[in-house]
Amino acid sequence: MVFTDSMGSAHRAVDPSVHSGQAFSLSVCRTLQEWFKADDLCRITFVYVLSALRWDIHGDAHKYVTKLKVRTGRRKTDNSIDALRSRAVHSVLDLWSSTFQDPTYQGSEFLELQQPDGRPLQPSYLNGGPWLSTFGHSITEFARVCRCITGHAPIGAYYHCFKINEPHGCTCGAALQSRQHVLFCCRNRYSVHYPRFLGDIASL
Ligand SMILES: [Zn+2]
Repeated sequence: MVFTDSMGSAHRAVDPSVHSGQAFSLSVCRTLQEWFKADDLCRITFVYVLSALRWDIHGDAHKYVTKLKVRTGRRKTDNSIDALRSRAVHSVLDLWSSTFQDPTYQGSEFLELQQPDGRPLQPSYLNGGPWLSTFGHSITEFARVCRCITGHAPIGAYYHCFKINEPHGCTCGAALQSRQHVLFCCRNRYSVHYPRFLGDIASL
C-alpha cells in the first residue's frame, strides 16, 4: 500500500513511456514486474493523502523528502522533456490564439465575447474550452448558444443568407432581423443588454 499526496507522481512512477523521469519509472517497473511474477495475489494500492493533514508517518515522510532541495544547474534554462513539451504546448496555444483572430478561421459571423478581465475570449484545450465548459452541461442550452455565436439561428438575416422563404424583417418593423439587431437594438427587446460574456448568452 502506497500513501501519496500526488497521484500524478504515482502514475508517473509506473509509467514506462517517454518522460523526464523515465529512467526511474523503468527501474520501478522492472522491480515491480519481478514482484508481481512471484505471486498472483501481489497487488499495490495507492492511497491519496493530503500532505496538509500532516498524517503521522506520512507527514514525517513528506517533511523528510521535501526538506532536500536540489538546484538543477546555474541557469534557469530547463531542457527536460517535460519543459520542452510544455514549451511546445504554449507555442501551439499561441498559434491557435493568433489564428483565431482571423475571420476566415473562426467564421465571419462568429460572435466575439470577452473574458471577465476584458480580454477577448480565446480557444483553449482545458476542460473542453471556454464555450463547452460553460454550457456543456445542457445540450439544449449549448445548441442555442451555438446558434447565437455562429449566427445560424432562425432569424431574418439567416433566412436571407441561405435564401430561405421566410420573412427577413423583424417583428419590430426593422427591415432586416440580424443578430446585431436582435441583441443590441431591437425595440421589442429580446434582450436587455448586448452580451459581452458567455454567461450573458444563456439568459437571452
Ligand atoms: Zn427588432
